Amino acid sequence: MKVRKVYLDHSATTPVAKEVLDAMLPYFSEKMGNPNSLHSWGRDAKRAMDEARGSVASLIGAEPSEIVFTGCGSAADNLAVKGSVWAAKNGGRHIITSAVEHHAVIDTFKWLGKNGFETTILPVDGDCMVSPDALRNAIRDDTALVSIMFANNEVGTINPIAELGAICRERGVLFHTDAVQAAGHIPIDVSRLPVDMLTMSAHKMYGPKGIGALYIRKGIKLVPLVHGGGQEYGVRSGTENVPSIVGFGASAELAVKLDREGEESRISRIRDKLLDGIVERVPDSFVTGHRTCRLPYHGSVCVRRIEGEGMLLRLDYAGIGASSGSACTSGSLDPSHVLLAMGLDHATAHGSLRLTLGKDTTEEDVDYVLETFPPIVETLRSMSPYKGK
Ligand SMILES: *Cc1c(COP(=O)(O)O)cnc(C)c1O
Repeated sequence: MKVRKVYLDHSATTPVAKEVLDAMLPYFSEKMGNPNSLHSWGRDAKRAMDEARGSVASLIGAEPSEIVFTGCGSAADNLAVKGSVWAAKNGGRHIITSAVEHHAVIDTFKWLGKNGFETTILPVDGDCMVSPDALRNAIRDDTALVSIMFANNEVGTINPIAELGAICRERGVLFHTDAVQAAGHIPIDVSRLPVDMLTMSAHKMYGPKGIGALYIRKGIKLVPLVHGGGQEYGVRSGTENVPSIVGFGASAELAVKLDREGEESRISRIRDKLLDGIVERVPDSFVTGHRTCRLPYHGSVCVRRIEGEGMLLRLDYAGIGASSGSACTSGSLDPSHVLLAMGLDHATAHGSLRLTLGKDTTEEDVDYVLETFPPIVETLRSMSPYKGK
């Protein structure tokens, strides 16, 4: 069989789009000024950065002055969580998150839990959703912050963010959401959403790696994690990464264009074909995460009586790039904290597979996976120690 190259790991990272790269290139060389310098080189860089800030802001309905660029999505999560609880004027010592957050949030909570804060970790249901009632019951008078992700990176489920945010607002508690998987892929409008802080990362939306952004609603004060020259409204010191910021701006504009062109319905249609096809052709397999409240490009399944690693290796051999959960936990043999929180047992969680599509994924790519994957499962099962059980 002819091997086709099919990259289906867009939740781990996306390629930099051509128009994004083209926009970035001059800022490495002829337009290399420091945006804090007063001469023409500096002013040109500053102007480009301001434009990019405008593009990223308008992607989510924010003001440019409410966008702070950071070193990556993880840095934006850390800034939101630590920066806000350290700044909390009411001295609130209690913080709330969910069991299925990205490590950039959950490990920050664990660290704060060992350093003077009391944490509550909310459970999720079998579809990976946080319940508004559970949040309502968890908020206390001394709660300083709630951080719940917009959409999950391992199973694609989209949380009821408007409802969760409204509960926080009603109780006067700050609400942060990690929207790294959602931003640029589904509409987000913070002018209508009760969200105080929101994390984005360029490399999950066809921009470069190593640049993130935090939306900080006007009036919210954060304690900086990096002290220095006072860049980014004093919240993130350090000479700005101008080429990457310009690339982030271009990727935000690309997201608007893709949305106008109907990319969301195109991609969710072929994603559904992929998921339905797998469940139909692979015995003892099922979709993980919510079927409809789901990121349009995100597919994830579990295949019973199979080791995820074996599937990944054989898929890779067939030219298909997939993952077994998050890029950060693969390589370790621990099953995903997300799947366990959803109630899956260890053995089943080991058979998880994530297939995340992108703007360049075609229906032919999906057909190739549907042709290639079932025989791989069959072969692995025939060799498996679980055989016959
Ligand atoms: C990728 C990801 C991050 C981390 O972003 P980086 O820019 O890679 O640091 C945070 N949260 C979620 C949900 C992610 O998918």
